Amino acid sequence: MKALVFTGPGVVELRDVPEPEVGGDDVLVHVVTSGICGSELHGVRTPGFRVPPLVMGHEFAGRTEDGRPVVVNPILSCGRCDICARGLSNVCRQRRIVGVHLPGGFAERVAVPAGALVPLPEGVDWTAAGIVEPAANAVHAWALADAPAGAKVGIIGAGAIGLACLQVAMSGKAARIEIADRSEERCAIASRLGADVSGPELTGEYDLVFDAVGAATTHEQSLARLRPGGVAVWLGLADKTAGFDAADLVRGEKRVLGSFAYSDADFAAAVDLVAGWDLSWVTSFPLSEGAEIFTALMNGHATPVKALLTP
Ligand SMILES: [Zn+2]
Ligand SMILES: [Zn+2]
Repeated sequence: MKALVFTGPGVVELRDVPEPEVGGDDVLVHVVTSGICGSELHGVRTPGFRVPPLVMGHEFAGRTEDGRPVVVNPILSCGRCDICARGLSNVCRQRRIVGVHLPGGFAERVAVPAGALVPLPEGVDWTAAGIVEPAANAVHAWALADAPAGAKVGIIGAGAIGLACLQVAMSGKAARIEIADRSEERCAIASRLGADVSGPELTGEYDLVFDAVGAATTHEQSLARLRPGGVAVWLGLADKTAGFDAADLVRGEKRVLGSFAYSDADFAAAVDLVAGWDLSWVTSFPLSEGAEIFTALMNGHATPVKALLTP
């Protein structure tokens, strides 16, 4: 079968690969749509824990052998440890991720454990299905933030995660949402979706700031733009460096929360939410064009904000 394979630093290639091995507890999924994630662009440019050769793709949906439409929750936690017992399965120490630690959705078919399948209700089209996973990240971050009624929200980064945070915050009844991005194209999209746009940096003072970039500079900005007692939620992973003013954090009783992935409940909530979203920022491409579009995005193209590959 055809698959887009990460073969070495900076390189992805369309290749013929063997059919997936379907283990005892696995289900074969015929992939219909699979989103390219910013973490994959970063992971191919500067390889870290994704080890080539690898079929990536952790944001995908498709059909089972008997034709049922499903979306895959790619976080495979152990389900038995102290962390899972606390309801924190997204940060289980033994977690594995489909498309990172085992072959993922940039292929015609993929084998996943039966427990990872989430049924797609009618009314969720394939474009929306391809956005469930990033949407679930935003649902989780919003839940962690525990937003006060009428919150003023700042979002740094108008990529897929930032736009998902925007749409979750809008349905969460935030009073005002401002978004910052260095790309004018992405700012224009955020504005069309209903955000106030501040240009490359946030300019106001906020109850909550979501950092969907994760650079040292955006970490710093996310805290500097909070009111005293405010909460910054960090979802981005661009830099390992924190880079913020710790004295300001102490004196202002500001809080920083890391947000990683989602619970099963967040994922289910995302399935319900995406059907009602404006997804004009999402574009589908055939898998055969995957290497080209992946490379363009990796080299800094700002649009499409989200590319979905369709085998
Ligand atoms: Zn992702
Ligand atoms: Zn566990």
